[in-house]
Amino acid sequence: MSNTDFAIAIEDLTVSFDGFKAIDGLNLYIDQNELRVIIGPNGAGKTTLLDLICGKTRATAGSIKFKNIELTKMAEFKRVRLGIGRKFQTPSIYENLTVFQNLEVSFPKGRSVMGALAFKCNDEVKARVQVVAEDIMLADRLDLEAGLLSHGQKQWLEIGMLLMQSPELLMLDEPIAGMSARERELTAELLQRICKGRSVIVIEHDMEFVKRIAHKVTVMHQGKILAEGPMAKVQADPNVIDVYLGH
Ligand code: ADP
Ligand code: MG
Repeated sequence: MSNTDFAIAIEDLTVSFDGFKAIDGLNLYIDQNELRVIIGPNGAGKTTLLDLICGKTRATAGSIKFKNIELTKMAEFKRVRLGIGRKFQTPSIYENLTVFQNLEVSFPKGRSVMGALAFKCNDEVKARVQVVAEDIMLADRLDLEAGLLSHGQKQWLEIGMLLMQSPELLMLDEPIAGMSARERELTAELLQRICKGRSVIVIEHDMEFVKRIAHKVTVMHQGKILAEGPMAKVQADPNVIDVYLGH
């Protein structure tokens, strides 16, 4: 397989913070339309890896290719334009705007709030909002002020705001933290819906959840990959049990 076939091809990736290697010679390949889950103990480098892919942090060495385009020296906003969307752990929605408006301002043409105010809400945007609202289970909450949503619904709205940009790679850092059992179930279904036609990387700790959604699991430890493969294989790996699952 050539690198062109992968959504993401990462080779020899390293980042040092004052000599400490948070990511240490990491290699990772993710297929198009794959939903990959990354697990591992706190401090393993999971969030830092997403920071490197989205451009929030610069690599010290190595290569990150997205559809065979080198990203390591590219500005963060250009990576967004290329189709890379990243959700952080705390939701950043506009609490005073409605669900509809939050989605509307996230449409590429009206990305800034000022731009969105001047932007005439045309049929194309409305149609896109409707599709996304259904994906994130908020189609009957479009006129509600976002601040009034439940914690889980706020998380979904932020995923929706990313979906408005039709990303080809979507990265979610601990998306079900603080969610109820029912919201977790619905989020698993949501992720299965939205990974059609794009690649998704999810960092998560909840093993029941991971089992439900993962195509493949990557286990990170000390900035490196400890194990990788289908959930059953990874769960049975003595090294993984030792550093992570056994605790
Ligand atoms: P995880 O998400 O797997 O819990 P992180 O990627 O957040 O781990 O962190 C990996 C390691 O890198 C930790 O030891 C953390 O303290 C360190 N680290 C992360 N970002 C920075 C930074 N900007 N400066 C210094 N150290 C950092
Ligand atoms: Mg983290």
